[in-house]
Amino acid sequence: KPRAYIPPHMKSNGGWKQSTSRHHSRKFYSLQEFREKLPIAQFRNDILKSIHSNQIVILQGETGCGKSTQIPQYLVEAGYTANGMRIGCTQPRRVAAVSIARRVAEEMDVTLGYEVGYQIRFDDKTSAGTFLTYLTDGRLVTEAVHDPKMSRYSVVILDEAHERTVSTDILFSLMKRALTRRKDLKLIVMSATLDTHKFQKYFNDAPLFQVPGKMYPVQILYTPQSVCNCLSACIDTVVQIHTLEKVGDILLFLSGEEEITKVCAAIEKKLQKYSEDIDEEEISEAIVLPLYSLLPPSQQEEIFKPAPKPRYPGGKPGRKIIVATNIAETSLTINGIVYVVDSGLSKQIGYHPRIRTESLTQTNISKASANQRAGRAGRTQPGKCYRMYTEETYEKKFPATTTPEILRSNLRSLVLQLTMLGVEDLIHFDFIDHPAPETITRALEELNYIGAIDNDGKITDLGSQMVNFPMDPYLSKFVIEAVKYNCSREAVSIAALLSVPSIFLKPLGHEKQLQAALAHSQFHHPFGDHLTLLNVYHAWLSKYKTEPDWSHRNFLNERNLRTADNIRIQLSRLMSRLKLPLTSTDFESPHYYSNIRKALTAGFFMQVAVHQRKNEYITMKDNLVVSQGISTIEKDCPEWILFDRVLRLDGRIVTTTLTQISPSWLFDVAPSYFDLRTFPDGRVRDALETVLKRKELGREDGESDEESESGESM
Ligand code: ADP
Repeated sequence: KPRAYIPPHMKSNGGWKQSTSRHHSRKFYSLQEFREKLPIAQFRNDILKSIHSNQIVILQGETGCGKSTQIPQYLVEAGYTANGMRIGCTQPRRVAAVSIARRVAEEMDVTLGYEVGYQIRFDDKTSAGTFLTYLTDGRLVTEAVHDPKMSRYSVVILDEAHERTVSTDILFSLMKRALTRRKDLKLIVMSATLDTHKFQKYFNDAPLFQVPGKMYPVQILYTPQSVCNCLSACIDTVVQIHTLEKVGDILLFLSGEEEITKVCAAIEKKLQKYSEDIDEEEISEAIVLPLYSLLPPSQQEEIFKPAPKPRYPGGKPGRKIIVATNIAETSLTINGIVYVVDSGLSKQIGYHPRIRTESLTQTNISKASANQRAGRAGRTQPGKCYRMYTEETYEKKFPATTTPEILRSNLRSLVLQLTMLGVEDLIHFDFIDHPAPETITRALEELNYIGAIDNDGKITDLGSQMVNFPMDPYLSKFVIEAVKYNCSREAVSIAALLSVPSIFLKPLGHEKQLQAALAHSQFHHPFGDHLTLLNVYHAWLSKYKTEPDWSHRNFLNERNLRTADNIRIQLSRLMSRLKLPLTSTDFESPHYYSNIRKALTAGFFMQVAVHQRKNEYITMKDNLVVSQGISTIEKDCPEWILFDRVLRLDGRIVTTTLTQISPSWLFDVAPSYFDLRTFPDGRVRDALETVLKRKELGREDGESDEESESGESM
């Protein structure tokens, strides 16, 4: 049962700390002391004054000074949530939204999910009485699409603005519009980096408030030569620091979840071996903790706990070793870090306009990021940063700053949302950084082909349904169209499985890899990966309750399966809210799988390729050569494939998550796109022409798919 929370301004005795109307725990008082010691605390009244007298304030302060946790609380204390209004604080990352909300609920001594809540994709922990919510920036964009005046908010805080995600960028514009329509609405833009003049300029010279930072010196150490195996260099460096350096926690930056899991295991193994080889008393206790976006909340909290105690009274204190993605650059502040090990890498979205596809690739970070990472070592005392690259690489290969995401993403979702808002002239829209007009035109064109916007650039009924789905329009089109193909229940499961990282584990070592491949092969579907994912999910559903180690035995990632299962539940709820029924074709029917593949084709027909030679394929209108990635399709290089993503590997573009389709379906799902008069001459057009001729003669394409031969079942 939620506890009754009375904001201080509503209490007769005024201020927060003098509150006598509630009995607080001991922890509450110690947290209050902690709050008062934060660098931002001494500026509380000045900041509030500035917010009071300005509609927009830009706030800059070093990571960890208290921006995210304190500013919203100051606003609550100052009465900004009177009359049931909310304060919303955006975060680009889900983990940060959850973690900060939990921390603030604790500091305020209220229940998470009631007074203070969070909203991330597929997860809403707020109630009618919530007055402070931490939400992802993407989530706020979705709210703004339905409520452009942001009418439930008194103050919107755009935190981590320096990260310049597409959603934060778009919120800059949406907020600017909302602020002119509602004079009582306030905006605070918070940034951890100094380059705030761009924000000031964009927001009509809004005042800048700077919280002076206190930083201790950090010694930077480069590798003398380029390292050939970055991961093992990182592992060795961490182990060396632990065994040789003085007290202080270690933070290692890697690019993604997969490497983090591997490296954590390798560090643990090395430390174990080390302590077996030498006298245990000489080496202190160490705890190795991963940190990345999709980490379950219970594990996230581990990183804030103190380092392990000495092994015996008077012995060396233990050490925390945190292995993180760039989430630990500015989003989450971990106290006690003295040593930073920086791989110099991160995963970044890149857009390939020619095949209209995004990919996530490992790239060198920017100099600005490298310096932020190093700074994590000097928050509480002088520290050291070990860079796993040479000084020359840093100088010559690292760009000065990271290019804003809006300039390197496909803008389908964004353009759909803005069209829903009635923005007509996207080329002249007030973006803080203008995406290339070509990218916008492409997005409009693609949305038109999938039927989300009409020829006049207005949103269609289908488009307004698609806006509700927090996913790429191709995927939402697949799910919505699946209703017609009598397989929306399966489509929702597949969409959920495509929204989490891989459910297949890739173990280390040849022997284990063979075992994993054997285990995975039992789920293979001859027509490809989307159906294989579905097979795994269905098998998991029937086993996970009775056989707790089933996932482990089959080399499957239980956590990702659970997340997908949860997303599927949220998506099913969304479907029922939109009055889209969940339907299934009878499993015994020959159309069960072909219906799913047809629905996939309806969503992804622009990501279809035709076989050229060896494992090379050519994409539809752009005639780009792509390679077939590893897939569970049993046929060697089927003639026509549909792909979910592409990867860049050694200069080649490789497709991933493939399903074999029948080309005759293409003319049914998107007649205007497959109007052959609009196709450039070449292999694709010739192939399509043959298919069309056969189709007109009433003969299906010669795919040896007995299901697809049996005709449509719409
Ligand atoms: P900023 O937004 O300026 O980077 P925060 O408000 O996030 O700073 O953090 C302020 C302080 O609160 C930091 O010292 C941080 O370590 C601490 N803190 C934040 N979240 C948690 C948490 N979940 N558990 C423990 N301490 C936390």
